[in-house]
Amino acid sequence: MSTPELQDRPPTSAALLPERSENEGRFSPVAACWICEGLQLAPVLPVRFEFSIYREQDPELADYTNAALNLNRCGDCGFMQPAGLPTLPEFFSRMYDTRWSPDWVEMEFTAAYRDPVFQTVLRELGRRVAGQPRRLLDVGAHVGKFVDLAARSGWDSEGIELNPTTASFAARKTGRKIHQQRAEALADAGLSFDAVTILDVLEHIPDPVPVLTGLQKLLTPGGWIAVKVPCGENQLRKERWRTRLQAGYRINLADNLVHVNHFTPRALRLALERAGFTDIELTLGAPEELPLRPGLDVKGRLSRGFRQTVYHLGRTLPGGVNTPLAMNLQAYARRAR
Ligand SMILES: [Zn+2]
Repeated sequence: MSTPELQDRPPTSAALLPERSENEGRFSPVAACWICEGLQLAPVLPVRFEFSIYREQDPELADYTNAALNLNRCGDCGFMQPAGLPTLPEFFSRMYDTRWSPDWVEMEFTAAYRDPVFQTVLRELGRRVAGQPRRLLDVGAHVGKFVDLAARSGWDSEGIELNPTTASFAARKTGRKIHQQRAEALADAGLSFDAVTILDVLEHIPDPVPVLTGLQKLLTPGGWIAVKVPCGENQLRKERWRTRLQAGYRINLADNLVHVNHFTPRALRLALERAGFTDIELTLGAPEELPLRPGLDVKGRLSRGFRQTVYHLGRTLPGGVNTPLAMNLQAYARRAR
């Protein structure tokens, strides 16, 4: 398949997906930028859907297979978001209704590949939040790894995890409170924390500003939030290079709407400002350390080394967060006192 839209030139609608009649009623259009409310949205990439594995579990979701949608870029802040959202009720919860196997869940907890990200965030929050006890809430706690590391670093940590399998595992494994409720419910119940973390989660939730506004309400005055997201702009740039180097490679950055928000540094800062945060600090997000295959795994080691070098270069370079070196964005911001 030719992919003319993947070239580095202004995309045209003709290069992307035509409106298809079988799309009728499946998506409700998103007409303005979720971050800056800009109306200059232009298509950059097709979003594909492949849900045939849900055929037994959720036939309505499986019906989205082969539906067609574009990812749009905002001409004002560079944020990328889908041209529409699925009209299927609870689309995202249904997509994440994954029945993980006990072995996989245990492996996710034991694995250390996200530790560099977690340790960096704990170190940075530790510098910002003084005193004891320090309460921390991790949003999207998954198997509880970060909640556990935070507790070991002296935080009184809790988590939010909506997937019942991972939530109950995390609670059992860490002995910490793992809420199976949305953030608004915790704020309504009067809970508050000195730090809230949302790491590699915000890119999965449509319309991020209200999400951040809700998290702000969970912070004590002067409390800190730590947000980590992929840098959509640079991830797309990297993927475009890959299509040039690897014949037949197709960019899948937004497929199935797993990543629904694609941030630029400017868009992340703006989102935090609009949610009411102050003292916003933006930097590069630490890369994950993907496991090596048994043996020498030269390719794996080279890839690790390359990602580390890019990260450290970007951190050292003044304004590095605004360069193509920033594959991930890490923000710290506080609730006004
Ligand atoms: Zn915008």
